[in-house]
Amino acid sequence: LRLEPVAFAQLVNDVIQSLQVIAVKKNIKLQCNLNEESIVYGDSDRLEQVIRNLLDNAIRHTPEMKDIWITLMSNNGRSELVIADEGEGIPEEELLAVKERFYRVNKARTRHNGGTGLGLSIVSEIIKKHDGTFELQSEIGQGTKAIITLNELA
Ligand code: ATP
Ligand code: MG
Repeated sequence: LRLEPVAFAQLVNDVIQSLQVIAVKKNIKLQCNLNEESIVYGDSDRLEQVIRNLLDNAIRHTPEMKDIWITLMSNNGRSELVIADEGEGIPEEELLAVKERFYRVNKARTRHNGGTGLGLSIVSEIIKKHDGTFELQSEIGQGTKAIITLNELA
């Protein structure tokens, strides 16, 4: 891990731009509200990977014409990034397991959705190494919220 000050909003924006084409193809609007001032202490390549994995999941599991909300807030020396989708959701009993390597909900259905089941385990590992937190909240048929917090530069 190579720790340095990272302009978090800019990093989030870069990932949004790079996935915008896929979102547009599905008529999904990426609704952003990003605090531009949030500077975190982290490895920008690894953090980019985290955001990409979470947003990729959100887009993949969101039906056409729905929105995804991406918010970045600053609170008590920590930055909180929330990626909230209106997708099919993750069953409560599988919320912990999906963070494990190679675990995928409903393997038959997700197989032709691509994916290896590694994304969220990588997110967990990277965030742990940053001394941050990573939480998944989900409601079947309502959507999923991925919430990460990271220390800001003191
Ligand atoms: P990879 O990320 O390696 O390409 P993947 O997306 O299948 O593959 P993870 O990102 O680890 O793997 O996600 C694990 C499983 O959790 C997914 O297969 C999917 O079943 C479920 N999942 C993840 N994110 C969401 C989401 N936003 N909405 C609904 N289900 C999700
Ligand atoms: Mg994934």
